Amino acid sequence: MKNPPLLNKIQMEPYKQKFGSKKIFAQSLMPVRGPEGFRKLDYEFVEKLNPTEIISKVIDHGFNAFGLVVKDTDGATLSKTKVGWNPTGRDLVEEFSEICQKRKIIFLLSITNMNDAYRGALHPETASIHIKGGKNFKKGDPGIHMDGEMRINLPEGVSFEEMRKKIPFLTDKIDEKIGSARNARGMGYIPTTAFHCPRSEHADYMLELVKELASNYHVDGILADYIRYATDHFDYCGCERCRSAFAEQYPNKGAPNKPKKLKGKDWHRFRMDNIVAYGKKFNETVKAVDENILTGWFNLPGPKIYSNRLTGQDYYGLTKEMDCALPMLYPYLAGTIDDGKYWGALANLMHWYSQRNMKRRFSDYGKEACILSVTNSVECNAEEMLKSFIAYDYGLGISVFKYYGTSDSQWLACKLYGKKLAQQEIGDYPPNQDDIRTILREVYAEYPPKVAPRWWKKEQNKKKKE
Ligand SMILES: [Zn+2]
Repeated sequence: MKNPPLLNKIQMEPYKQKFGSKKIFAQSLMPVRGPEGFRKLDYEFVEKLNPTEIISKVIDHGFNAFGLVVKDTDGATLSKTKVGWNPTGRDLVEEFSEICQKRKIIFLLSITNMNDAYRGALHPETASIHIKGGKNFKKGDPGIHMDGEMRINLPEGVSFEEMRKKIPFLTDKIDEKIGSARNARGMGYIPTTAFHCPRSEHADYMLELVKELASNYHVDGILADYIRYATDHFDYCGCERCRSAFAEQYPNKGAPNKPKKLKGKDWHRFRMDNIVAYGKKFNETVKAVDENILTGWFNLPGPKIYSNRLTGQDYYGLTKEMDCALPMLYPYLAGTIDDGKYWGALANLMHWYSQRNMKRRFSDYGKEACILSVTNSVECNAEEMLKSFIAYDYGLGISVFKYYGTSDSQWLACKLYGKKLAQQEIGDYPPNQDDIRTILREVYAEYPPKVAPRWWKKEQNKKKKE
């Protein structure tokens, strides 16, 4: 892509003050999703993790930062928590924090906010409420549904009833085959998922949890994920709290006794303001404990209509209240050439769109927005991953999602890319296509590609002729 956007000095300032002039290269761990992608929910796996080995591998492969998903959409908090729920018995925050300090790498926490299956099972009253009926739910029902991504296996010798006691959001429904679509790849028992109302007591619960994490551990940043409305249902939230707040803020001028319908421009503004208000509190909660802890908010970039009406994320509003915007740019989750031409072409198209979309939306974050992108290594190959690294580095480096799911060839590619990035300063243009081809030649010598890219095949043929 010609002239990709680059952050200016003001935009890089929060990052620079905290981390200096070296670019970030972060690897991230989502402990509850098992050893491969993220189609599983596996608490036994968490109990077996070895943080020392994990951080050694991360550092050996060129990374200078590590992000731990301390709480995922299931709702388990992997710390010693008085406020939250931890079914694993591990305090991974303490364990990783100590090792990261010792090994001198940046330690970041990511925490899921509005999506929380466990709290949905225990406190359905804080779940968002459907304004309209739909397939399998009625108007007025809480936003608790079958999860699209996570699947649960029963460990050996554990009955369904025992498992249900441990995981109260488990259902007896089973997904038995793997689909070809990316969101249909899980197998096992299906848990529920719950989106909570940002105006409900769930917000207070979350802020208590955030305060606990900021107070009890040495962390460099606490980043807010799922700081938004759901993307699979856009009729949230019609609870009494939201209805009365909306009626008060946006009176129906035409008929003062009849509240305005929960739709249209004012309604979308109201939803976005709810999320911004929560982001402001999130930031204040962290900063009240320690000014030096970086805050950020994750977003799935799409067209403006998507963030305005579906996720309810006001880019400018949220960036104003928090230190960094963290776009999650995962075009190659749509597919990989390794699964065939169709999937490769689809994902390339997503990558092309994603770059153009970011370029178009860059200014929406605001002139002072610090933007650090996250991209995926999971479910794509080394070349697709490297293409994402260079396309979405806007001057501060790149974060990689995620540790489990990164293949051996991708780890090697990361190691070589990390070396390249270590020579750069923030504000530099990312490495270019020639750089990644140099890396790939070395990677392919050790791990031949499953589907050989055309440029590489050509080079191989030329070599043969010589
Ligand atoms: Zn509500």
